[in-house]
Amino acid sequence: MIIGVLALQGAFIEHEKSFQACGAETRQIRLPEQLEGIDALVIPGGESTTMGKLLIDFGLLNPIKEMAQNGLPIFGTCAGLVMLAKDIVKSEQTTLSLMDILVERNAFGRQVDSFEADLEIPAIGNPSYRGVFIRAPYIVSAGPGVEVMAKFEDKIVMARQNNLLCTAFHPELTDDLRVHQYFLEMLKTQKNN
Ligand code: GLN
Repeated sequence: MIIGVLALQGAFIEHEKSFQACGAETRQIRLPEQLEGIDALVIPGGESTTMGKLLIDFGLLNPIKEMAQNGLPIFGTCAGLVMLAKDIVKSEQTTLSLMDILVERNAFGRQVDSFEADLEIPAIGNPSYRGVFIRAPYIVSAGPGVEVMAKFEDKIVMARQNNLLCTAFHPELTDDLRVHQYFLEMLKTQKNN
């Protein structure tokens, strides 16, 4: 099983380390031909407007979109969540436009650029999960096909729509591997379908 990790910019090395710690093989993705043979793709945190531009410049936007529509599991964190969204509040930036979610960027305000919070994520069980938020977006609203997996206060910070998983926080910046393991389980069960 090969987990592709989009490596145009942002926190991709940390995701590689987390998946490797789960026993999975990873591959850095910068070119369309590197997408061949991957079983899943991770879109890391970073800067989503830059990432959107680079996806176009490197010829990756349409191939990834097509693979996702054909069932490729994708896991987006933070800027990666923004990249998966169909709608961004007050922005026309380029995204893959795959998940029925409306996202607000940098949504927790300037005073709280970064913070940590204990999250209840029923799908991964107890104990609670330490979420690391860095200039994080959140999901303002989600369509009926979207499963809300975690909230921080009243804000949606983790969601899934079929083969697509996203978190507003950074699971790759903690030692707790349960979110990465959940994604690996998700693609195993999908493969059996
Ligand atoms: N605020 C960034 C964006 O919207 C995301 C920040 C992050 O990925 N840590 O692009």
